[in-house]
Amino acid sequence: MGETPSKQVAVLACSGIGKTWGALARETALELVERVRPGVARLICLPLLVINDTEARQAVLEHPVITLDGCPKACARKSAEALGKKVEHPLETIQFYTAHRDLKPEGVAQLNEAGLKLAQVAASELAATVDRLAAGEQT
Ligand code: SF4
Repeated sequence: MGETPSKQVAVLACSGIGKTWGALARETALELVERVRPGVARLICLPLLVINDTEARQAVLEHPVITLDGCPKACARKSAEALGKKVEHPLETIQFYTAHRDLKPEGVAQLNEAGLKLAQVAASELAATVDRLAAGEQT
């Protein structure tokens, strides 16, 4: 008897153009889907949600969702909520720095070395969350 296949987990990062914390959201999301949990964590393009793209909307509505936002305006979380989705694991990236004060992100188009490292650390720490959500558990 085979195991129940894991669900995918949708990851939404704010666009955060011009802001360090937004750049950290983007880098963390990429680390999560490309290195930490490829094939399970699935990146959803935020602008596609904004234009009501059918596939992006379905991915958000049908899977557990992690949102990564760069400021309290919470564009990623609110874009999901606008579809009627209750986000399972909403995050604001300053939380990562609060937990790792030795890694101070700077830069906008390109994060500094500490910022890139913080994105790696944050994504690694989110692995357990992705696993729980993929297994149908709450975080
Ligand atoms: S959450 Fe903040 S940083 Fe991110 S896109 Fe929205 S306004 Fe910009």
